Order: sequence, then C-alpha cells, then structure tokens
Amino acid sequence: MTANERPLLIPAAGLAAFGARLLAAGGCSEEEARRVADRLIMANLTGHDSHGVARIPRYVGMIESGLVVPGQHVTVVNDGGSFVLLEGGAGFGQTLGEEAVAIGCERARDAGISVIGLRNSGHLGRIGDWAEEAAAAGFISIHLVNARGRSIVAPFGTPDRRMSTSPFCIGVPWTNQPPLILDFATSMVAEGKVMVAAAGGPKLPAGALVTAEGLPTTDPAALYGPSVGSAAPDPMLGEGALAVFGGHKGSGLNFMIEILAGALTGSGVNRTLREEDVKPFANGMLSIYLDPERFAGRAAFEAQVKDYADYVRSARPAPGHAAVLLPGDKERGLKAERERDGLPLAAGTWRGLVELGQRLGVDPGDLRPRSG
Ligand code: NAD
Repeated sequence: MTANERPLLIPAAGLAAFGARLLAAGGCSEEEARRVADRLIMANLTGHDSHGVARIPRYVGMIESGLVVPGQHVTVVNDGGSFVLLEGGAGFGQTLGEEAVAIGCERARDAGISVIGLRNSGHLGRIGDWAEEAAAAGFISIHLVNARGRSIVAPFGTPDRRMSTSPFCIGVPWTNQPPLILDFATSMVAEGKVMVAAAGGPKLPAGALVTAEGLPTTDPAALYGPSVGSAAPDPMLGEGALAVFGGHKGSGLNFMIEILAGALTGSGVNRTLREEDVKPFANGMLSIYLDPERFAGRAAFEAQVKDYADYVRSARPAPGHAAVLLPGDKERGLKAERERDGLPLAAGTWRGLVELGQRLGVDPGDLRPRSG
C-alpha cells in the first residue's frame, strides 16, 4: 500500500496520449482509444480521479476477458419518435454515450422532449460528460444510470450488498456561461474513489464503507478483499460494502434509479436472488432531454436561473467554506487549476499504467511525472 506517498504531477496532454496508446495496444482502434482516453482525462481534470486513467488497466482487462467489445455502436431496438431504446452490445460507454446523447438532442430538437434508454453499455464513465454534451447543444438533461453485475453497495439499514453505485445527473445549459452540472453516485463515494484511495490517493470520508458486521470503515480492503492494492482491484471480492449517501433518502433514490435505468431499459438490475441472474457488468442509462425554449422560453428560463443562482451564491459561507458553490462549480475550478499545474496522480495509479505498458509493449517515452 502506498498511502503515505506524495501524489505525482503530470501534464494532462501527455497522459492522454500515453493512455490512448495503452488502450490501442489493448485492442481499441486508434480513434476509439483516443476518445476513451480523452474522456478519462476529462474526469481527472474535473477532480473525479475515480473515473480517470486509473480505469485503464481494468478496461484492458475487460477487453481481454470479453466483458467489453471495442468498435461497437448503438443499434436501435425501438423507435417511438421522441422515445428511443438503444442496445449497446457491451461496447465502450465513451463511444455509445456520445451516440446516445446525439440521438437524444436530435429528437428533443424535434419534439421539445425526448427519452432515451441505453442498455448493455460498457462503463459510461463520468456521467457529467453526457450532461455537458447535451448542454453544449442547448438542452437540459437528466440521466439515471445503474451498474448491472456490481452489487457492491449496502442499502440503508443492512451491511449486506444489494445495490450498485447508481449515479444521478442533471445538466442545465446557460447561454454564454458554463452549464450547471449536478453529478454524483448514490453511494457515499463512487467505487473508483476507493480504488484511488487504495493506490495512495486521497483518504475516504468517514463511513464511506461498512464492514460485514455493519461497522463504518475507510479501509478499501472491505470492498476489494485480497485484490486490494493491485492495479485493477475487484470490488466483488470484499466482505464489506460501500455505504449509501443520505441515509434512507439516498437508499430510496438508488433503488428507484436501479429499476428505471436497469429494469425499464432492459439492461437488467444489478442482480436478483436467483444465481442465474448474476450477469456481467454493464451500465444501463435512462436519459431525458428537454428544450427550455418549449417550456418557459430559453430567455425567461435563464433569467430565472440567474436570479436564483445569484440569490443562493449570496449566502454567507460557513466556517471552512470559501464560497457557496453551485452544481459544477467545483469541477470547473479544479479543471482550470489542473490544466495549469498538471494532474495530481496517485503514485500507485502511475505504477499501474507503467506496468500495463510493460506488459503491452508501450513505453511512456518522455512522459515523466514530477513530485507534487
Ligand atoms: P461527488 O461526491 O464528488 O459529488 C459531485 C457533485 O457534487 C457535483 O455535482 C459537484 O459539483 C457537487 N459538489 C461537490 N462539492 C460541492 C460543494 N462544496 N458544494 C456544492 N456542490 C458540490 O461525486 P461522486 O459521488 O464521487 O461521483 C463521482 C463520479 O462518478 C461522477 O462523475 C459520477 O457520474 C461517476 N459515477 C459513474 C458510475 C458509472 O457506473 N458509470 C457509477 C458511479 C459514479
């Protein structure tokens, strides 16, 4: 374990290029490798290292075991005009997500609203990406996502694993201003934050995990068991679980997301009591796209958003807080800082990438992290 090591600082562009070469050597086309690596780097830049390049060893392992299939595109299962159900064929979520958002925006442009189901997708990464993409096209979007085959979260009132980390995301466009992006897992922390903590990254908040006995812990071994500390630890191997956020309310939200993103799309809930229903990992996503022009009118909507945002921001910061932040503010601030100074990368994450490169014959070249 590397908990006391200082993080490394590394330029984002060089790391993106190294990440793309690793993914290409792992089986992606150059184009898809670049797309996936760029999305992972965006997660690092916005402070979500849980969804950044630390995922590459796991993604390559998933290609090797056939759990994710490079080169897939969405196919239409059911087209109802403003409603479309898409099949992902276990492809890369970074490719399928872009295609699903493009269809959602196109249909909402026609009808004012669209609902898009995406089933059997590989990991969709940071869901805020998809809300940002829709906001850039002028649409409000709501995304509910489940993770089939990842029963790693304990519902409120039990230490037993029954839920996935089921993220929730809302994005709101704002002309000439950055969009508002609310984006979080309904577990107290995303699973990848435990992986990054185990690789020497930031410590977890108190109560992020529970032991098999139901006691709060921050020890990543509760989630990963004997695989803790490896470059691609397996969250299915621990005896404990991730805790839900927000007690009974977060637990209820998680449950509803699971059935809308998993059962309604046909992607499947994360598992059931029947052993034959234990399926491999897949993200399911139910997304709603709205054109503000067709509701209050874009200008009137944005004027109200601005007035309300100003009102909320005018509140006095409590001790320990520099300002009252709106959804997406923190990510934007970190992105500016990290683009300027370089990405802080847990030492174990860098080692995992270099080791993967040695196995695949990919050299980091001149890319050298410096001590943070
Ligand atoms: P988090 O706990 O960091 O919460 C992020 C949200 O809280 C953002 O909207 C952010 O703007 C807001 N926020 C942060 N600090 C704030 C403050 N001080 N004041 C006001 N608002 C603040 O996020 P998380 O739960 O760790 O999730 C991390 C990422 O993991 C997300 O991008 C999520 O989409 C992703 N995820 C993906 C999957 C998947 O299966 N693909 C599963 C789970 C999570």
